[in-house]
Amino acid sequence: MSICCNKKLFQVGALCGFIDKVYQGDHTMNDLALKGNFGIGTFDLVHGEMIGFDGKFYRVIEDGIARKVDPNHKTPFAWVVDFEETHTFTLDDIKSFDHFAESFDSKIPSHNFIYAYRIECPIEHIQFRAEACQPRPFRPLAETFPSVQKNFELSNVSGIIAGFRFPEYFSTLNIPGHHMHFLEPELMQGGHIFDIKFKKAAVSVCAIKNYELALVDSQAFADLNIGEQDLEEATHAVEKQKSKE
Ligand SMILES: [Zn+2]
Repeated sequence: MSICCNKKLFQVGALCGFIDKVYQGDHTMNDLALKGNFGIGTFDLVHGEMIGFDGKFYRVIEDGIARKVDPNHKTPFAWVVDFEETHTFTLDDIKSFDHFAESFDSKIPSHNFIYAYRIECPIEHIQFRAEACQPRPFRPLAETFPSVQKNFELSNVSGIIAGFRFPEYFSTLNIPGHHMHFLEPELMQGGHIFDIKFKKAAVSVCAIKNYELALVDSQAFADLNIGEQDLEEATHAVEKQKSKE
């Protein structure tokens, strides 16, 4: 009995580089679009959040507004897959990000594969962020991120969520656990989700066993002392921490 589809997730850049000054990549959005129709990530100089579904890719910068990506725009950290539904389930009365993660994790057949998931539903409340570019000279992301990200929130909207769940054992390569980006297609607002509340959603899941990683071939990545990083703290600061209002 197989759980996963045969599609391959394609990732550019490793988390351990992305949190530590590897902010310029050598793959374009066009390179990614050739590898998959669904994904999330960022752009060069960590300037904006990427969300892609149905082969359409959007970029949200610090104004919170989504625009179509420039296919020549490069990225230091992003991943895509040709989304193929392997599982579906319904989530009810979700009260927070953590509640979402706990409920999702109780519905999937194993915690050891990669999952891409798509949700399109009415949302009671959502908190999200998008960011301006990294200042020079480059510093570790955890130091600079709170000052360049902008927080947003919306109530009673309909949105599309592109999410991924990576197993804990991936933690040097990608964000372990859940990572979701959001687009409100009428307002064209979106970003990286901090918190979410909804009554009911059908979740379309793509379970993935194949993984291709293209490391960033740059001096910045070549020079990193990866063993010296506090990856857990950096990941938390970048992925979960809202900037102070
Ligand atoms: Zn994100």
